[in-house]
Amino acid sequence: MPEQEVPFSPTEPYRFCPADGTRLEGPRPSGGTRCPLCGRSWYRSSAPAVGAVIVRDGKALVTIRAREPEKGRIDLPGGFLEVGEHPVDGLRREVKEELGVEAEVVGTPILLETHTYGPDGAYVLAIGFRANITGGEASPTDDVAEVRWVSAEELDTVDFAWEHDREMVRTILEPG
Ligand SMILES: [Zn+2]
Repeated sequence: MPEQEVPFSPTEPYRFCPADGTRLEGPRPSGGTRCPLCGRSWYRSSAPAVGAVIVRDGKALVTIRAREPEKGRIDLPGGFLEVGEHPVDGLRREVKEELGVEAEVVGTPILLETHTYGPDGAYVLAIGFRANITGGEASPTDDVAEVRWVSAEELDTVDFAWEHDREMVRTILEPG
């Protein structure tokens, strides 16, 4: 795989217009950069991602990541939203892709957090929900290597890739 290592800042303004490739002007105080050719302004923002806490018989479902970044570490089912996708729809899609099951998302978000992702430190807006499996038996596919069910007592020893996932699971397994 011939790839060149090119540094990329997670926060600096874009340099070229995504619409026409023209070099953008210097950033305004708002952080937007304007294209002198088409007049559009471009902004950097966090990428929204969704995750699910699925509990059955007092244990929460966690996944082992099959791919980088954080390959081999523990994650929750979920992933990045597609453009224009509602978080609930995105979470149901990701759970289907990763576990092969139908799921229903319960209530409103139980986690809102920002964190960085990958070698460039790209900013992610993490949105967590509680969810239930409504059809099928969870088995790993796509970018999941393995599925495990963990109890509240095991939580502290689980190698979560992102610490906020541990705390989100804890709030569900140890209510109050
Ligand atoms: Zn342009």
